[in-house]
Amino acid sequence: MDLDAGAKTNRSPRIAVIGAGMSGILTAIKLQEAGITDFTVYEKADRLGGTWRENTYPGLSCDVPSHMYRYSFEPNPEWSHRFSPGAEIQAYFEAVAKKYNVESFIKFNSEITRAAYRDGKWHLEIGAESGGESGGETVDVVDIIISAAGVLHHPVYPDIAGLDDFAGTVFHSARWNHDAPLDGKRIGIVGTGSTAVQITADIVSRVAHLSLFQRTAQWIFPQENPAFSEDEKNLFRSQPQAMDDLHASLTRLFADTFGQAVIGDKEQMKRVEDACLANLEDNVRDPDLKARLTPDYQAACKRLIVSDGFYEAIQQPNAELVTTPIDRVEAGGVRTRDGRLHELDVLVLATGFDGHSFMRPMDLIGKGGVDLKDVWAEATQAHRSISIPGFPNFFMLVGPNSPIGNFSLIDISERQVGYIMQLIELWRGGAVNEIAAKQDAADRFNAALKEAMKDTVWVTGCQSWYLDKNGNPAMWPFSFDRFCDDMAAPDLEEYELVSQSSSGL
Ligand code: NAP
Repeated sequence: MDLDAGAKTNRSPRIAVIGAGMSGILTAIKLQEAGITDFTVYEKADRLGGTWRENTYPGLSCDVPSHMYRYSFEPNPEWSHRFSPGAEIQAYFEAVAKKYNVESFIKFNSEITRAAYRDGKWHLEIGAESGGESGGETVDVVDIIISAAGVLHHPVYPDIAGLDDFAGTVFHSARWNHDAPLDGKRIGIVGTGSTAVQITADIVSRVAHLSLFQRTAQWIFPQENPAFSEDEKNLFRSQPQAMDDLHASLTRLFADTFGQAVIGDKEQMKRVEDACLANLEDNVRDPDLKARLTPDYQAACKRLIVSDGFYEAIQQPNAELVTTPIDRVEAGGVRTRDGRLHELDVLVLATGFDGHSFMRPMDLIGKGGVDLKDVWAEATQAHRSISIPGFPNFFMLVGPNSPIGNFSLIDISERQVGYIMQLIELWRGGAVNEIAAKQDAADRFNAALKEAMKDTVWVTGCQSWYLDKNGNPAMWPFSFDRFCDDMAAPDLEEYELVSQSSSGL
C-alpha cells in the first residue's frame, strides 16, 4: 500500500484533538488546511495557550530564540527580544489562533477523562473517574484522536514535611499567585531549574530578602537577551525571508553544536562545559559561593539552563543561596537541617513537572479493551513518538522520545503533524480503516532508542525530569537531522493497516 491510496474516495473523518496549546492550535490549522472541518479541540482550561497560559511567573521567557520558537507559516517580525517573554508568546498563540479561526473549533472547560475504542470509533467521555470502567458522559464519537496534551503540565509538589503549616503564601511556580505581594517581602524559592533561575533574576531587586533553596547546583550557559532594534524589526517586516534565514541558521547551529553534544560528541560537550565554567568563573566572586554553585555532574545531563542574570542576582546583598538541605516547613518559614529558620512571607515551589504523564490521567482503552495503564506500566513508549500498538487512529504530538531538549518544540510538533496528516490522508482514501503501529516495529524502534541512550549525557549520573522511574530518558538520542528524515514520510511497513472489510465495518 502506498500513501497515494488517499484521495480516492475522500472520506471525511470526525476528529478530536486533545488540548489547545501550541500543538493543538497547530493541528487545528493543519486540519483546516487539508479541508477537514469536522473536528473539535477539547481544552480542559478556559483559555488556549497550554504551558504559556499556565506559567505566568515573573521573569518567564523562552530559552529558545524567538525566531526559532514560532510556527514556520507565521514568522513574527514583532518579537521584542532575542528570547521572548512568556506573555508575548501567549499573545502570539492567541493572535495566530484568531487568524486561523481556531477558537471556533475549541470546546473550553472540557477535559476528556476517558477515551475507549469500540466498533471502529473512539468514544470520548468527560467526567469519568480515572481508572474506572466508565461513569462519565459521552461527549463525542470520533474516527481519529490527535493528542496534543503537552509534556510539562503536571506540577510536581515536593515531599517536604510541614508545607501545610506555613503561615505565609505557598504555591507552585506554574500556579503563580498574583495576589501575593512580593515587593519588600521575604521570598523563598525551592529549586534551581530553569524556572527558579528566571524567577530569581527577575524578582531579586524588588524583594526584601530572597532565599534560594538549592539541592543540586546547575550548569548555566551565558546568553544575553538584547531587544531587537526598530531597524532589525523593519528588516524582518519588509523582508520576511530574513526571518527564515535566521531560523535556518539558528536551527543548524543548535543541531550541530548542542544537539550533537548531548548525544555523545565530546568535543562539542567540552565547548558547552567550558562556556558554563567561564561564566561561573567570570561572574561569581566569592570562592565559597562559587564552589557551592559548581555542579558535580556533566553539563546538560539535566536540562541546560540559559541565563545572563542569575549569578549577578544571587550575589545581591538581599539574596542567599541556601545549600543546607531543607528539614521541614514551619509556620514562620523553612527550617534547614542545621536548625536554622529561614523566615519567609512567600514560598515558591519551583519544583518542576512530571514529564512522563502526557495525556494521562485520561484513561485510554484501545482495541479489544487493552488499557494504556497496563501498556505504559513499566515504560512510556510510542512508535516514532506518535502511535501506540493496539490503539488505532490515535496519534500523539510531542509524545514519548520527541527531541525536546533545548530545541524548538514548535518545529518538532510541525514535523510530527506533517507525518500524522499523511496517515490521516490514507484513512481518508477509504481503503484503510485502522492505523496503528505494529508491535514489532515499535519494539525495534524502542530497542534502538534504548541502545543509543547509552551514549547520551542524560544517563551519566544526574537526576532529572528526563528520566522515568527506571532511569530511562524520555528523550531523542539521535541527531535532529535523523528526526527530520524520519518524520518526512511514514514507512507503512511499520503500521498495522486494517481495511474496512477486514475490520468488519
Ligand atoms: P526542573 O528543571 O525539574 O527543576 C526542579 C528543581 O526543583 C530542581 O532544582 C530540583 O532539585 C528541585 N527540587 C525538586 N524537588 C525538591 C525537593 N523536594 N527539595 C528540594 N529541591 C527540590 O523544573 P523547572 O525549573 O520548572 O523546569 C522544568 C522544565 O521546564 C525545564 O527543564 C524546561 O524544559 C522547561 N522550562 C523551560 C523554560 C524556558 O525558558 N523555555 C523555562 C522554565 C522551564 P534537583 O536538581 O536536586 O532535583
